[in-house]
Amino acid sequence: MSRRRQVYEGKAKVLFEGPEPGTLVQYFKDDASAFNNQKKGVITGKGVLNNRISEFIMLRLGEIGLPTHFVRRLNMREQLIKEVEIIPIEVMVRNVAAGSIAKRLGLPEGQALPRSIIEYYYKSDELNDPMVSEEHITAFGWATPNELDEMMSMALRVNDYLSGLFIGVGIRLVDFKLEFGRLWNNDDMRIVLADEISPDNCRLWDSQTNEKMDKDRFRRDLGGTAEAYQEVARRLGILPEGGPRDMKGPAVMQ
Ligand code: C5P
Repeated sequence: MSRRRQVYEGKAKVLFEGPEPGTLVQYFKDDASAFNNQKKGVITGKGVLNNRISEFIMLRLGEIGLPTHFVRRLNMREQLIKEVEIIPIEVMVRNVAAGSIAKRLGLPEGQALPRSIIEYYYKSDELNDPMVSEEHITAFGWATPNELDEMMSMALRVNDYLSGLFIGVGIRLVDFKLEFGRLWNNDDMRIVLADEISPDNCRLWDSQTNEKMDKDRFRRDLGGTAEAYQEVARRLGILPEGGPRDMKGPAVMQ
């Protein structure tokens, strides 16, 4: 990790300069955090699993014509991505009441929402990622009305596609978070999906038992977090040959 210039370190990932201009290497750590970094821990093997799961999902979304920042997986913990200008808005898509919407609106966790609901949060650790409206986003210039329309329609397409993908492997997609970036090509710009899509930023429940298979296991001290992520990967058919044992290799293989 020390040979390349680090450009950013987040809670669960590190970004390094990529091999060519306009690219970055995204490194997935085992570190876990919740409640805006108030709770911290390590989930052994999480980085390897999220690298695989996010690769798989980004590739499938690319196949249905949704542009993403993903280029290719490089090794167990790293993927090559296109450098984008991150839009400072987290886009949540919710199908079932859980987490903050359940608390805020007094809804029983597990109640299906009348329709899929999109919410926006301003990315700011100091402010604890406050929920904002479209008005805030456009008035403060975080995204233009056109960009926001594009993000919303992409988020709904992601939701339709991923809900079907997961239900096919016995998993209910309760909610998830997306991030978007501006990808520049000379003067042309398009909005692409960025960050990662993994059990760190989705709520995934077993469709038979409602058992949680995502980061809520860590947030709520339920135990078995790594095993749950492994089970998601297994159902998606992407556990490395030999199973989880193969995931304990060196952190970086160049
Ligand atoms: O906590 P809340 O119910 O608002 O979370 C909605 C979804 O967004 C969950 O799937 C959660 O994992 C994800 N999320 C996230 N990053 C955050 C907050 C929530 O990925 N900072």
